[in-house]
Amino acid sequence: MPQITALALFSGGLDSILACRVVAAQGIRVVAVKFVTPFFDYELLAAPDAYRQEVFKKYGIEVLLEDLSSGYLELLHNPRHGFGKNFNPCIDCKILMLVRAQEMMAALGASFLVTGEVLGQRPMSQRRDTLRVIERDSGADRFLLRPLSAKLLPETEAEARGWIDREKLLDMNGRGRSRQIALARDLGIVDFPTPAGGCILTDPNLSPRIARIYQGNSIVSVEDITVADVRLLLTGRQFLLPGGGWLILGRNEQENARLLTMVQDGDAVLSMPVRPGPTAILRRAQAMDGPVSQAPRTAQERPVSCYEHDTQLREALQLAAALVVRFGKKIKDGSPEGNVRVTMGRETQTLTVLPLADQVFQEWILNDAEG
Ligand code: SF4
Repeated sequence: MPQITALALFSGGLDSILACRVVAAQGIRVVAVKFVTPFFDYELLAAPDAYRQEVFKKYGIEVLLEDLSSGYLELLHNPRHGFGKNFNPCIDCKILMLVRAQEMMAALGASFLVTGEVLGQRPMSQRRDTLRVIERDSGADRFLLRPLSAKLLPETEAEARGWIDREKLLDMNGRGRSRQIALARDLGIVDFPTPAGGCILTDPNLSPRIARIYQGNSIVSVEDITVADVRLLLTGRQFLLPGGGWLILGRNEQENARLLTMVQDGDAVLSMPVRPGPTAILRRAQAMDGPVSQAPRTAQERPVSCYEHDTQLREALQLAAALVVRFGKKIKDGSPEGNVRVTMGRETQTLTVLPLADQVFQEWILNDAEG
């Protein structure tokens, strides 16, 4: 019989490592796919070869990286199976991964799918009924093998067709980790990550700010959220201003520098030229400017100053500048006023403003990111 190939979903956690190894131990060629989105492990896309080599060296597993962002940003609008404790749509997330994995199967010559799910390990997505929902709604059905709990689950095609010996699969159940750790030891796997997940959507500090942006009420409409917006959302100190402006302030020099790399067309960038303080981005400021914000095609067509034409934009810039001064360094015995340089496209102006009083902006704060 020619060698059978399986495609495994690979989170990088111990369960997914073990699932790959248990299947590979039966003579199956296992190709693993590690999906990334701006909410989990996106930074791996910067050096995919290094990641592939590291996984192969540590665990002997061949892994591919796949960016799942496009479908994922849409999924978060309204996940069919709802959210977990935070902003984590775990059931729909797994369904989407399995759908994408099935699309990859033909090119890889894979005959079935593998996941490291363990029955009863997680309250939302690994109950018996939700495991069934995931395989049904993804269309993977009997072509999905969960080797760590397979003996507690119905037989799959891989077992029925004799590709896999069911007797050599496992019957793990529940939240305990001792059996996984013992199996890892038996397989000679010593260096594996702790169970704490790297998914920001489960983070009690960061997920609420993602949820707030997805509620709408800002200049960034839910349909138009991009990967770059999500990356920005996870940086610095954030505010949703009255009128819908989305303002991001750096909290230190490192974040100020990082923000400058994240500026996009249509953003306004604010900073104080003569006082230490935050660099800030007012995202899609130009979109608050109505028709005046149309990008000019020639210098002659360019409006004198878009800031002077639109009250909504002007107000947002005034508030943004006042927040920049508020979080800037105070000058001992100096005036509390600060000069803030505002750059939008090819235009620059300076606003002189007083710092905003703390009680004014409390309700505009999207909770702080860590670090
Ligand atoms: S924790 Fe995050 S990556 Fe994992 S299933 Fe849930 S939403 Fe998806």
